[in-house]
Amino acid sequence: MAGQTTIENEISYSGVALHSGKEVKLTIKPAEANKGVYFLRTDLPTRPVVPASWQWVRESSRCTTLEKEGVKIRTPEHLLAALAGLGIDNACLELYGEEVPMADGSAQTWIQLLQKAGTVELQEKRAVRKLVKPIWVEDGERLLVALPAEKLTVSYTFTNPHPAVGCQFAQFTIEPDTFAQEIAPSRTLAFWKEVEALRAQGLGLGGNMDVAVVVGEEGYLGQLRFADEIVRHKILDLVGDLSLAGPLAAHVVGLRSGHALNARLVKEIASQSVII
Ligand SMILES: [Zn+2]
Repeated sequence: MAGQTTIENEISYSGVALHSGKEVKLTIKPAEANKGVYFLRTDLPTRPVVPASWQWVRESSRCTTLEKEGVKIRTPEHLLAALAGLGIDNACLELYGEEVPMADGSAQTWIQLLQKAGTVELQEKRAVRKLVKPIWVEDGERLLVALPAEKLTVSYTFTNPHPAVGCQFAQFTIEPDTFAQEIAPSRTLAFWKEVEALRAQGLGLGGNMDVAVVVGEEGYLGQLRFADEIVRHKILDLVGDLSLAGPLAAHVVGLRSGHALNARLVKEIASQSVII
């Protein structure tokens, strides 16, 4: 069994938050074994801690939200996916604000920063969650199934009635190199008419055309990073949300799910799995 890990050197990043449009500073610091990944709100006088744990996830549709005793962390999923994708078990994420900066809309910025920070192995062994039986959650046509497996593998089917998007399928076993190269650079899907509607509600203020795969009536409005970028981003989101249960060995099969269903699955996994 491998040892737990943390980052070698502290790193900082300042950038705009997607929904508030405000500049937010994030500092990632090494953490001791068994501390896990946790946020610390440096903008609040009591510097409250919000662990990146399934216990504090709120079911929200557009992004993941953590909330502990009234203190929120919004849109942590791409940063958490980068940490989980690189196999980093312990880290202190100091955030001067409520929302994690959106960076380039993918996990690529976080991967680059974390690779620069370096990883160190700690003495303590890493505990991994394993399933003893299949677990599933569903919501109408949305479905997530988690099956017992030796490694974390995600198989995902994304469908959308828009002819430019259609049906996309991808499957990856989550290893650091695969995650960094094949999944981390992918950005989320945004329909142009929704972008306009979100802005009218005061949301998505930090967004621009480069931080998402924007689709207009005629088709894609920008350059794609992968032909199947949208389904890869769904896997990225799922890896981030699943990390709230800690290191996981399971084959997760997804169909049209989003953050709300991901949150339900991670709670089921946390209550029905064994930690080895
Ligand atoms: Zn996302």
